Amino acid sequence: MRGRLPNLLSNIFAGDLAPLGGPVVSDRLSGYVRAEQMRLVKRNSSGLMLANICNAVVLMVAVMGSADAVVAQAWCGVIVFVAGFYGWRSRFSRRITPPQTVSRLATQRLCASAFLLGSLWAVVPAVFFPAAAHSTQLVMTCIVAGMLAGGALAFATLPIAAIAFIGPLLLGAMTCIVRIGDFTYALVAILLAAYTVVLLRSVVLHALEFTQRVVQRVEAETAVRHDALTHLPNRIAFNEGLRLAQSRLDLTGHAFAVLLLDLDHFKEVNDQFGHPVGDDYLAQIAARLRRSTRDIDMLARIGGDEFALVAADIDSADAAFAIARQVCDVFAEPFLIEGHLLTGSVSVGIALAPRDGAGPNELVRHADVALYRAKKSGPCSIRFFEPGDDKTARDNQELLRDLEGAVARNELFLVYQPILHLADDRITAFEALLRWDHPQRGLIGPSQFIGLAEESGLIHAIGDWVIQQACADLACWPADIRMAVNFSVAQLQSASVLPGVLRALAQSGIAPSRLEIEITESMLISKYATAGTTLNALLELGVTVALDDFGTGFSSLTYLRKLPFSHIKIDQSFVADMLVQPDSAAIVKSVLSLASDMKIGVVAEGIETAEQLAYFKGTACEAAQGYFIGMPMRAAQASALLGVVSKSSSQAA
Ligand code: C2E
Ligand code: MG
Ligand code: MG
Repeated sequence: MRGRLPNLLSNIFAGDLAPLGGPVVSDRLSGYVRAEQMRLVKRNSSGLMLANICNAVVLMVAVMGSADAVVAQAWCGVIVFVAGFYGWRSRFSRRITPPQTVSRLATQRLCASAFLLGSLWAVVPAVFFPAAAHSTQLVMTCIVAGMLAGGALAFATLPIAAIAFIGPLLLGAMTCIVRIGDFTYALVAILLAAYTVVLLRSVVLHALEFTQRVVQRVEAETAVRHDALTHLPNRIAFNEGLRLAQSRLDLTGHAFAVLLLDLDHFKEVNDQFGHPVGDDYLAQIAARLRRSTRDIDMLARIGGDEFALVAADIDSADAAFAIARQVCDVFAEPFLIEGHLLTGSVSVGIALAPRDGAGPNELVRHADVALYRAKKSGPCSIRFFEPGDDKTARDNQELLRDLEGAVARNELFLVYQPILHLADDRITAFEALLRWDHPQRGLIGPSQFIGLAEESGLIHAIGDWVIQQACADLACWPADIRMAVNFSVAQLQSASVLPGVLRALAQSGIAPSRLEIEITESMLISKYATAGTTLNALLELGVTVALDDFGTGFSSLTYLRKLPFSHIKIDQSFVADMLVQPDSAAIVKSVLSLASDMKIGVVAEGIETAEQLAYFKGTACEAAQGYFIGMPMRAAQASALLGVVSKSSSQAA
């Protein structure tokens, strides 16, 4: 019992709404809730402080000629100083990126500031009102009423701060009314009390609803990063952890290692004992791996039988090898699952940062090359990335040399995949997808060369060709057909992309609203600072932007607020697993519901079966795309599909 009351009070002053019927949340989650509450309060605080200063200055003028004018004016001066200080502090902190979580102490401090300001104002009616002239009393009444309403609005997400501000003000007003002792003033007191109750009730209701929404959003974000089977972080969380480790390395020089783990013969376990045993096996392995790794390491399950580890503070191959050995030792004891004794092993590929890669993508790619070699060496092998052995690297160099002249030699072409609008079962758009007809290697897909083009800077010329060609082909199709074009981050970071898009629109004569730009979410997060300006300029032209491959990168729903996306494209991996994997289905459902809350359309990618299409037809999903609806096709075929006689340049290709 002892300590419960102080605890409760400290929770209430930290913004906890559970005592008022709000959601009961974990400590971690409450930090996110507080951050959101504070973000909105801070957004309003400059305005509120300005109002405080204006009111105090007006009052300074109004009290001129009163008996206690000097004291009252000095008091107003104190208010101007305090409000000015708070206003300056909040403007300053707004320049800093808002934190993801906020401590209880920060919220308690905010309540204390609200209380101080409310108390300063409370002195005005309590001390200066009775002796003031009628006209001055009128000014004071307006100011107190205005402050009550303004305070409630400004602290609408944090009822306790609203109470801390309004409470003293109300008390001051009541003291003044008691001091005057007039019946008419008693009526004013009743009115004031009634207004305050109504105001506070609305504040509490608004705050409860707001908090509920924040909790739902944060829980959805957490679910998206969690592997339901092993309770480990999933690939999305791994990518984030890796990026964090890279930022830490860039900032402080702390090296790290990336270990990719692949179970040996896992398929045989599944085939021989069935999937439930396979699942249990994975869960037990995950539990043992967690015990064998350090708290500072990030262990994740990134695929069926693939795990990954970001090992922090590893500055030598020996240290990384020791961790890999520990991982292998996890399999020294057999696993007992449903009466079966299973023995297993794991192969490990290691890349050391910064030695083996300039960034997260390269590190993972190189750890994967090492894992490939480990797998070839037989079960239970550990291999480091070795640049000399990297045939892929040599292959890429050759490919890059060929890519340099590919546009000039007319080897690139576009195919168009239809996008079906689900409500009226009609093709309303196409996505332009790049292909390379390599003279020796044959047809090459974009995933094999876009990365190279980005790294080498060739993406600018290629991207420009893509947008010109896509717009030229779109010009031959009916005016209600739209075109989605994929853009790389590097393109959006360059100033030349905007003139390129303008030229494509002008030459083809198509309306900008028919063009949609697809960007992937990983790019949005890592490069928003540099690509945001171009994206906003494109949006101003009337071009729309879609968020591609949603769910594979960072899935930070926070970023959805940064740009007015017209569509989110649910990545095909979720669509593929959705009908068999409950966690994929859960992700699809939560994306659909969040997108509908945010009024963003959803396009489901990778529809390969009638069942998948039927599923989305029964949801709020706006459109779908996939082999079942239509394969990517040449412009001439797309024209035929639309019933148009094709004139486009690429039809002959
Ligand atoms: P994306 O934008 O997500 O494009 C969809 C990819 O899924 C395409 O692969 C498409 O052929 C494939 N796909 C469509 N329906 C299905 C299906 O039902 N099942 C399966 N398994 N796959 C399906 P593609 O053409 O190989 O393109 C891969 C990625 O390359 C694209 O992913 C896009 O991110 C990038 N890309 C393509 N064209 C360009 C381009 O012109 N510029 C840039 N920067 N990137 C491009
Ligand atoms: Mg795309
Ligand atoms: Mg996609």
